[in-house]
Amino acid sequence: MRLVIIPALLACSLSGLIAADPPAAKAMPYPLDTCPVSGEKLDQHAVTKTYGDREVKFCCAKCAAKYEANRAMFDQQIDLAARAKAGERKGKSSGK
Ligand SMILES: [Zn+2]
Repeated sequence: MRLVIIPALLACSLSGLIAADPPAAKAMPYPLDTCPVSGEKLDQHAVTKTYGDREVKFCCAKCAAKYEANRAMFDQQIDLAARAKAGERKGKSSGK
């Protein structure tokens, strides 16, 4: 009977692995190389946090706390800065 049970268990654990979807994989990578709170360049001490589907990097944990206190405002600033950065890369001709 053991020979029958073992493949069944293997199949179960395999399908479990496939079903397990790591939430971090869906997060949008942080588009900037500066801290959204202080404007400091991010270095090896940068703190990376994931909020829902958004990844945000900070120069230090204090800035992460400030971001968390005012997410809506900082999210807007990040999006604006990311758009400006993307625009710079393409060339400034298509500006509004
Ligand atoms: Zn900081």
